Amino acid sequence: MPDIDLLKNLSEAFGVSGQEAAVRKIVLSAIKEHVTDIHIDSIGNLTAIKKGTGERNLRVMIAAHMDEIGFMVMGHDSNGLLKFSNVGGVDDRILPALRVRVGPEGMPGVILWTPIHKNHDQDVTKLSNLRIDIGVTSKSAAESKAKRGIRITFDSEFSLVGDNVMRGKAFDDRAGCALLIELLRGGPYPVDILAAFTVQEEIGLRGARIAAQRLQPDVAIVLETTTAHDLPLADADPDEINTPNPGCKQGLGPVLTVMDRSMITPPHLLNFLRQVGENHEIPHQLKTALGGGTDAGSVHVSNAGIPSMVISMPARYIHAPRAQLRRDDYDNTLRLVQAALMDITPQIVSREAAH
Ligand SMILES: [Zn+2]
Repeated sequence: MPDIDLLKNLSEAFGVSGQEAAVRKIVLSAIKEHVTDIHIDSIGNLTAIKKGTGERNLRVMIAAHMDEIGFMVMGHDSNGLLKFSNVGGVDDRILPALRVRVGPEGMPGVILWTPIHKNHDQDVTKLSNLRIDIGVTSKSAAESKAKRGIRITFDSEFSLVGDNVMRGKAFDDRAGCALLIELLRGGPYPVDILAAFTVQEEIGLRGARIAAQRLQPDVAIVLETTTAHDLPLADADPDEINTPNPGCKQGLGPVLTVMDRSMITPPHLLNFLRQVGENHEIPHQLKTALGGGTDAGSVHVSNAGIPSMVISMPARYIHAPRAQLRRDDYDNTLRLVQAALMDITPQIVSREAAH
């Protein structure tokens, strides 16, 4: 079963792209007894190595990104309200009246919302029209409490609903970070694991490129969360959610990316992962939705090319204050990655062997 406290701490940590220090600190203390060669590079990636048993000469990079989407303070109105913009992909329509935390110290704020009595025809959900109220009434007070450039996160507490449903912010990709920590605590593995906790994924897959260049792996696995397409559309038959679609569903296990906006998984590696799932009786599903991208988009074109795979956990409501992830999906994803690490060989990675 997953270490709930680990995911809780990671989920609640402040780590909007470019300000990932609090997440890095949690990761560092969680892994330091289990790895060697810990390194923090110029952009802020945390990399480390878990040496294999020596049985196989293969260096497997496993990456998860530490950053989360959020916001940044852009300016201050004369009445003390904060102007802000998004960092990474956020849907403006979910923002009004949300609680937020401003800066790493977590100053509480609320995003403005005109009460329903008054807002009949304003275009209130456009981000440029919204403001954050931190409880001060002058520009100078706002400027001294929340400097321009400071990041802002959703104000969300982690919660466990029943015994299988976890909710919290930033599961994208703190759930991947938690999974990678679990892998490093486990083992031994027949291959070397090159762990990369990356930064700045949400604004363009930036950290992963540098991590891959440093680590020089033979093959890479990116651990992610991905949008579960199992909600009914506004005017669709509710049973629609049970019909096959190009996305994925909660409860059906780890999601293997066939292709997205940032990369195509080499067919022989996709087949390998499916085979691992079948051989070890671990549920898994395919994602053929063409949108979205992951760190694998950067990694697979790094160096002279690094064969890359993406294994994701299906989650609802990502890039929002309360993502939802099931423990069985988390657990099955961990099992699939562990099994893949036991089964992978240099021959499997080699494209020549596939022909
Ligand atoms: Zn992500």
